[in-house]
Amino acid sequence: MPKEKPELSDAMRAKISKKTPQKNPIKGTKFTIAISSAKGGVGKSTFATNLALALKKIGCKVGLLDADIYGPSVPKMLGISEKPKSDGQKLEPIIKYDVQCMSIGFLTDQETPMIWRGPMVTSAIKTFTQKVNWKDLDFIIVDMPPGTGDTQLTFSQEIKMDGAIIISTPQEVALLDVIRGIKMFDKLSVKILGLVDNMSFFVGDDGKKYKIFGEGGVKKTAKDYQKEFLGEIPINSEIGKFGDLGKPIVESNPNHEISKIYLNFAEKIKSTYL
Ligand code: ADP
Repeated sequence: MPKEKPELSDAMRAKISKKTPQKNPIKGTKFTIAISSAKGGVGKSTFATNLALALKKIGCKVGLLDADIYGPSVPKMLGISEKPKSDGQKLEPIIKYDVQCMSIGFLTDQETPMIWRGPMVTSAIKTFTQKVNWKDLDFIIVDMPPGTGDTQLTFSQEIKMDGAIIISTPQEVALLDVIRGIKMFDKLSVKILGLVDNMSFFVGDDGKKYKIFGEGGVKKTAKDYQKEFLGEIPINSEIGKFGDLGKPIVESNPNHEISKIYLNFAEKIKSTYL
């Protein structure tokens, strides 16, 4: 007969829970969703900003946290050049298009490179999650840096993350990074809401679909790793154009076919959580 395991005493239980890192929710929001891409340049920030605006359009209260310390995109994509106010204790988010925003890019000169070691990045992330006056939000959308580094670790281990979405292009080389991203979130016990295939095809003047970066790879990766495939976004030059103008496509032209795709993603997220 196997011996029964002894019950843990209350003192022992308290000791163990002290050792387990505490995951703090970001104050001022109900849910925190990370937008991640294991590779750079696949459209992660474009997705994060348009998704935040789409959630707002369907009635949610939204914050956008640019956690890409080395390469912040939110100031440019939302056309923000002002500095956040502080009372010495907390930073006030900057409100643009009815979305509460915070980015390291609001605090530094746009052209100054952030030459920081890991602990400084970790400390910046803690400031943005614990010392920003986020107010009364349904969602904070976090634009993660690419890769599987300090920021991802800090978020996943210390902050209560309610879900992550992984963005990729269909290229083989990007997919390898997606697999690394999936494994990282799984290991850190962050729920992956699903995978998005960005720049999945281009529709030519002849009306035909051209699969420039290959076909079906993101969907297949999702299937292989038992994750949901959330959908695809085609290549469309309007996306970049409006992003560069500081007014993303969902805000500039909500009836555009591309905006409808982002609005669909937003509906999915809203119905999952609210
Ligand atoms: P990341 O955050 O992954 O580095 P960005 O969101 O900055 O990537 O996007 C990289 C570039 O690709 C930007 O110029 C952006 O406008 C463009 N882009 C993103 N998604 C699309 C798309 N579906 N079609 C066309 N251009 C896109």
